[in-house]
Amino acid sequence: MSPELEARRTRLLPAIKEARAGAFVTTALPNVRYLTGFTGSNGAALLTPDRAILFTDPRYQTQAPQESDCEVKIIRGPLLAGIGKWLKRLAVKTLAFEHNRVTFEEFAQLREQAKGTRLKPIIGAVETLRMVKSDDELATIRASVQLNSAALELALRQFTPAMSELDLAAEIDYRMRLLGADGVAFATIVASGARTALPHAHPSGHPISANELLLIDMGASVSGYASDMTRTYAVGKIDSKSRQMYRAVLESQLAALNTIKPGVTCAAVDRASRNVLKSYGMDKLFIHSTGHGLGLEIHERPRVGRKDMTRLEAGMAITIEPGVYQEGLGGIRIEDTVAVTASGCEVLTPTGKELVIL
Ligand code: ZN
Ligand code: ZN
Repeated sequence: MSPELEARRTRLLPAIKEARAGAFVTTALPNVRYLTGFTGSNGAALLTPDRAILFTDPRYQTQAPQESDCEVKIIRGPLLAGIGKWLKRLAVKTLAFEHNRVTFEEFAQLREQAKGTRLKPIIGAVETLRMVKSDDELATIRASVQLNSAALELALRQFTPAMSELDLAAEIDYRMRLLGADGVAFATIVASGARTALPHAHPSGHPISANELLLIDMGASVSGYASDMTRTYAVGKIDSKSRQMYRAVLESQLAALNTIKPGVTCAAVDRASRNVLKSYGMDKLFIHSTGHGLGLEIHERPRVGRKDMTRLEAGMAITIEPGVYQEGLGGIRIEDTVAVTASGCEVLTPTGKELVIL
């Protein structure tokens, strides 16, 4: 059991105090896991300055105490309704809850059960803590990234032209599992030909043909932590426009990586990648953010986008993934997972980035 758990809960107390609440509740599973260690599919954490209680249902009565250092309470029925009764017992006058995580129905149940308690919506308290990873978390992310790259390498050995996007995606997922992943961090993207212009294409039965682009965006989940990588390949010969797009995206990605260091805003990193694409006249083809934080979730704070003024800190784990998408022709994206260090960043992804012809 990680000794970090208690320290994390202690770090959350100022946010509870700032909300003028006597307790905080979360039902968001990544937040529950972060604060209690519990990995089940139904759980809630209730924290007060001197108690930490994990609520779950009877399916987890054996697992929960094994994973968590919190008091465990088993509840039948909706967790927030059950917690309502505990608020009375703990004499909680004001309860902070996450307004972006609780459904309207759960809110209604909680309000019904916790008549004497004021409910105070707050947002992002745990997510803010989760932005900066501990050494243990970074080691797990590194393991996830390495497994992900190893899975890609093994899957590409099985690649033959005319294989379908779905077949290659299945091969990738299978290799991740064989290497010990909990599963995929998100549905694997394999797109070829003109379909690479769809940034989040679902793999199809489309055969991956010669003289086309092939885009693979994949991430493993290892001990709950995500990795995320995109590579774009040429299957046989590709046209000069596609080659130029590849050069531009690679240069853009390297420029963004070069700006990363503590104190720099996410917006400045985003600008660095966008400026390179502008110099190639391709900035209009870059239709998403430069990257995102990742950890227990595939998309976490910060967002490495135009408007995010979050300053980078050592210990953050983010992706850098500029891309350009030309409808009818195709798209190129290059994505690495990186850790912000005291002096810059470390690219965790070991897979090469020069254009590879399959
Ligand atoms: Zn990503
Ligand atoms: Zn990705």
